Formats: sequence, C-alpha cells, structure tokens
Amino acid sequence: MRQLMWFRTDLRVLDNSALNAALTAGPTLALYLVSPGQWLAHDDAPSKVDFWLRNLVELSHALRQLNVPLLIRHADTWAEAPQVVRDLCHEFDIGLVQVNEEYGFNETRRDQHVRERLAQDGIHLHSHLDQLFFRPGSLLTQSGGYFQVYSQFRKQCYQRLHTAMPSCLPPPRAQADLGIPSDTPPIELEAFPTPPSSLRQLWPAGEQAARERLDTFTLEELWCYEKRRDFPAQPGTSQLSPYLAAGVLSPRQCLHAALRNNQGEFDSGDPGAVCWINELLWREFYKHILVGFPRVSQHRPFRRETERLAWRHEPEELHAWQQGRTGIPIVDAAMRQLLATGWMHNRLRMVVAMFLTKNLLIDWREGERWFMRHLIDGDLAANNGGWQWSASTGTDAVPYFRLFNPVSQSRRFDPDGRFLRRWLPELAHLENGDIHNPGAFAGLFGVPGYPAPLVDLSASRERALAAFRNLADRV
Ligand code: FAD
Repeated sequence: MRQLMWFRTDLRVLDNSALNAALTAGPTLALYLVSPGQWLAHDDAPSKVDFWLRNLVELSHALRQLNVPLLIRHADTWAEAPQVVRDLCHEFDIGLVQVNEEYGFNETRRDQHVRERLAQDGIHLHSHLDQLFFRPGSLLTQSGGYFQVYSQFRKQCYQRLHTAMPSCLPPPRAQADLGIPSDTPPIELEAFPTPPSSLRQLWPAGEQAARERLDTFTLEELWCYEKRRDFPAQPGTSQLSPYLAAGVLSPRQCLHAALRNNQGEFDSGDPGAVCWINELLWREFYKHILVGFPRVSQHRPFRRETERLAWRHEPEELHAWQQGRTGIPIVDAAMRQLLATGWMHNRLRMVVAMFLTKNLLIDWREGERWFMRHLIDGDLAANNGGWQWSASTGTDAVPYFRLFNPVSQSRRFDPDGRFLRRWLPELAHLENGDIHNPGAFAGLFGVPGYPAPLVDLSASRERALAAFRNLADRV
C-alpha cells in the first residue's frame, strides 16, 4: 500500500518517526503544505517561515537521495487541509498517511479533521510520537493529572529515562524509484518579507548544518554550559532552538549527543551535560502543559485569577520596548538582538519579559505576540511557557514578588558591558561602571542619541507589586 509522509515541523530525514514508519511499510511519497494564511494567523515570524522554506529545499535534496518524491500543495489555512490531503491521496492512490504528532490546539484540531475526512474514504492517518521523549498524558501525577511543577515532572522523566531510554532510529534506506517527479519548493512567499542575508547566514539550513552545530556544541561547550549559559556575550548555549522548533533536529539526537559526552548519564556526571538535558526537559514540560491545559494555547493564563490583573494600555511604552528604546540598556540591547538576529539569549528573554510585564505592567500577551512575530525559533509551547513564567501567570511561574532588577541583571551577567556595546553603539564609549545605567550616570542631560529611562525602576516595581497584591487580596 502506498504511504504518504506529511511533513510539518519535522523537516529532516534522520531519526524521523513517521518517515521511518512510512518507508518501512511501503512505497512512500512526501507532502508539504504551504499555508501562509494560517502562518499569519499564528504570528509566525518571516525569519521562521524563511527558515522553514530553506530547510524544505534541503529536505527535498535529502528525499531525492531516498527516491521519495516531495509534493508541495497550497492550503492557505488548515481549514482547507482535509480536502487538499484527500485529493492528493486519490491522485496518487495513497492508502495510509503518516504524520508526527503536533500539540497546539489548532494543530490537534487540523489533524482530527484530516483524519475524519480521510476515514470517509477508507484512508488511515497514523500519528507518531516524535517531537518529545514521552507522549503527553503518559507522565501523570499520582492523582492522574498533568504535572504543574517542573521539578516533579523532571523526576518522573528521570525515572522513565532510567527504564526506557528513547533511542534514535537507524538512517532510512533508499526505496525503488517511483517515477513520480518532485515539486520545486517555493523559496519565498509574498506575505512574508525575506529576511536580510546577515540574519540568514546566522542560521544555515539543513540537517547537516544542524548536526554540525550540535556536535560542535556538545564537544566544545557542553562541559561549561552550566557556568556560561547565563552570560549573553559568550557562546555559552547551543543556539539549536530554531533547528529543534522546525524539527531539523530531533530531541533524541540532542539527548544522545549529550549522553555520549557524559558516559551515558543524564542525571549525574558532568554538571554541564545534566544542566543542558534539563533544558530539553523544560521544552518537554511546556509541550505537556499545552496538551494538559489547552487554554494556554488560546491566549489564556494558566492561573485563572490573573485574568483580572489591571494591565496598563500604553502603546508608546510598548513601542519603545519593541524597538529597544526603553533607556534601560540590557533591555534595549536584547530587543535589538531579537530584531537583528531573530533570536535572543534565554537570560535576556526573562529580563525583557519581566520588564514588560512588571515594570511597564503591560499584558504578557503583547510580548508573547511580538516574540512570535520575530523569533526564528518561535514555538507556541516554549514561548507561552516563558512569557507566563515571567509574568507570574503561568504554571510553576516565578513568584510575583521576585522581580528581576534589569540593571543588577546587566551588571551580573554582562559585567564588562560587552553585550551592551555590541548592540548599543551609542553607549560604547561609556565606562564599565556607567554603561549599565546611563540614566543615573548622565543625569539631567542624558547620553546623546540614547533615550532616558522610560520608568523609574523602583517606583514601577512597587506599582507591579501593588497590582499583584491587589489580585491576591481579592481572591
Ligand atoms: P540551550 O540553552 O542550548 O537549550 C537547549 C534547548 O532546550 C533549546 O534549544 C530549547 O529547545 C530547549 N530549551 C532551553 N530552555 C528552554 C526553556 N526555558 N523552555 C523551553 N525550552 C527550552 N524557546 C523556544 O524554543 N522558542 C520560543 O519561542 C521561546 N520563547 C521564550 C520566551 C520567553 C519569554 C522565555 C523566557 C523563554 C523562551 N524560550 C523559547 C526558551 C529559551 O529561551 C530558548 O529555548 C533558548 O534561549 C534557546 O537557545 P539555545 O538553543 O541556545 O538553548
């Protein structure tokens, strides 16, 4: 029976569960749906869509080596997906469609609708666990609920990893030529402006580029990850998130690369390796949360009482934050890094998110949306989890009274101002002692070309505490 491998955010041929199942079961064709309307509705960033398309080109080369024809179809929104997939199945006499599970609310609904439509014609859709180590719903608390506390979730993950370590699949073997020509993947789409080449160069496409990055990181940087990961001027983290988000790399490949560098251990041995694997488990945790609590996928807070928070509507302050013009250097440098590279260091994601939601008291959903529109690694679960953590509206979130002071964070994690100087040339001439807080140093006249601080950090901190306290009092 002919198989259809429907690629989505799993743009690779190695260690791909659904592709492996398809090729093992019978002659296989591949499909990719181009859905600009849906992507716009999801706020997918132009840099991310461009990354998908660039990886699709690489994927088409890899599939050619396997004699798997890649068919590209247009379904502007996922409402059209059931009909488009069904028509293709009829055109090519497909009996079974293989997909890797995706966990967002809309993704789940899309797959359900496609499954139902295909079933009417006797065609089966088979979905596989691939994005995660453990299927959501298979790790539950003693009372049968989804974990809401990361450390408890991690403990269960450790137990499962000890007894059932997920392994990588063997490389797929080429099938006989089916004589069906492949379509040429689009290289750009009208709705999504092409990012500058400087950004594209930072993120080369393809599995080989991803694996090289993974190997270099695990061989050269992993051992000091725990010590260096919070310093944005250093190459302390893997920068693999765009590859994981697009599925150019599997989490199993990442896990095993780390294990190889830690004598097969995940919860002991090299602290760098243990710490990095824990980050992969944070990724896992937030995807489980998405399934267990679908409201977070629909712009609702995990903690329902925070719906009543009195967020400020301040478009000009929001705009200053978005453009890196708040007058708080670490916030501005980070926001400019995001605009220029499509990526931001994790420590800084927390700093800017807390500044927006606490010091400016602006709704976390504004920040979540801005990040999605600009991140090359934008991922619904991780982005939502990160924003709700920072805003104290989420599961296992930071307590509302533990606000980061961005200037202290800057002094601590960029002590010599290297990161600041890179992104804020107008401050490059300042001494190390002054660059973190030029507002205080420059007094009334400020630094030419750089804005005065948008808010007083301690007054705005008090305002945020009062807003959250007010909420607690009303519960
Ligand atoms: P590394 O430190 O090398 O970690 C390895 C991998 O683990 C990452 O590539 C990522 O897949 C995963 N990971 C690491 N930290 C986290 C985390 N806290 N939560 C979930 N997964 C994690 N990550 C995204 O992939 N997409 C997002 O859209 C996203 N938005 C975020 C928004 C906010 C406000 C915050 C605070 C965090 C967000 N993160 C997001 C998590 C984290 O910042 C990035 O995964 C990380 O910075 C990526 O860099 P890296 O690949 O060098 O990570």
